[in-house]
Amino acid sequence: MPDFSFFGFDEKVMLGLEAMRFEKPTDIQSQVIPEVMKGSDVIGCAQTGTGKTAAFLLPVIDHIIKKPETEKTCALIVVPTRELAVQIAQQLEGFSYFAPLSSIAIYGGGTGEVYANEKRALTSGVDVVVCTPGRMISHLNLGYVDFSRLEFLILDEADRMLDMGFFDDIMKIISFLPKKRQSLLFSATMPPKIRELSRKILDKPAEINIGLATPPEKIHQEAYVVYETQKIELLPMLIADRTMKSILIFGATKTGVKQISRQLKKENHDVDEIHSDLEQKEREAVMNRFKSRQTRILVATDIVSRGIDIDDIDLVINYDVPNDAEDYVHRIGRTARAENLGKACTLIGLKEQEKFAGIEKLLKREIAKMPLPDKIGQGPEYKPSGKKHIRKPKRRFQKRGRKTGTKRR
Ligand code: ADP
Ligand code: MG
Repeated sequence: MPDFSFFGFDEKVMLGLEAMRFEKPTDIQSQVIPEVMKGSDVIGCAQTGTGKTAAFLLPVIDHIIKKPETEKTCALIVVPTRELAVQIAQQLEGFSYFAPLSSIAIYGGGTGEVYANEKRALTSGVDVVVCTPGRMISHLNLGYVDFSRLEFLILDEADRMLDMGFFDDIMKIISFLPKKRQSLLFSATMPPKIRELSRKILDKPAEINIGLATPPEKIHQEAYVVYETQKIELLPMLIADRTMKSILIFGATKTGVKQISRQLKKENHDVDEIHSDLEQKEREAVMNRFKSRQTRILVATDIVSRGIDIDDIDLVINYDVPNDAEDYVHRIGRTARAENLGKACTLIGLKEQEKFAGIEKLLKREIAKMPLPDKIGQGPEYKPSGKKHIRKPKRRFQKRGRKTGTKRR
């Protein structure tokens, strides 16, 4: 595998890479970067943690450094969540530390002052904009955003955006962009909806697909087959090992998340929660505390399961079996990043056995079912009926439903 000098990046990019301690490109990076530098549209599919962010940021930064300066925005990166927008903007700042490049993250939930600041950046022609769809559209609708010289459109976590009902918003944003541009689409999965989206917005894209979405071998996966009521009794035993300094617990709903977190607090655990009821500021604060290991346990709905890069999680617990087999892969991908070993543990309730069987099918392997501790008593037998688990349509995230009280995670 070549190192980063192979691509012919500007020296300032190389300095940024050094500062960020990136030595060798990952698979997706070595395949995507040359295509982007050649000017092709790209559709890039690879599982979480493979380095998709740098695959698009580096060639875009390099292009901006090398092109004549303009007062207009050059690249627009659209992402599903605020957390991801912030995270990408931070990586961008890191890589472009030595380059004369301006960027801003634009996402919902801020104050009037934040809005004014975003407006200022957008009207003064910041080089790179990282945004969530809704917030970008409110700016675009007000008419002062000038994307007439935009060269790159990047959709990151496109599968996630479609799950969240952002299709129309994405198309609306695109209606404000120049027809002639380079478009890059990244996704961890490649369902038919993504193919359709890419047909609509990409022009003869280079397709780069890295492997099947299976979790890294080094993640130790196990499961407990339980009755629903046994879950809350079992949980304290799973987190008892004090050598585990960073534990992420996923719940299916925000009500569930609140209950789990309340229970753990009662037992004097050091725990925080994150879900859609929290204000933006609180969410960021919670994230930062967890990332910096000030809190040991974070209980979350799956708003954090994709794309957010938290290093070194020792244990991921699926308190509920995720609805999508692919979500399972995303969640447990939070552990064992880079060189670390990680552990993932799933509690399978009686009604969740089919779902879990679906996950095992995707992984093409069985996950070890652990015996329950004596204190918990007998659990049910693991006997998935083999009936296909029918997933309810994902309505929770649909854009339109938001204001009318649709359940949010
Ligand atoms: P993805 O978007 O595919 O889930 P990310 O872009 O978030 O993955 O990268 C996952 C982690 O790997 C991040 O912490 C990132 O800094 C790190 N990383 C990515 N590429 C490299 C590289 N070439 N060298 C070292 N670390 C890298
Ligand atoms: Mg990513």
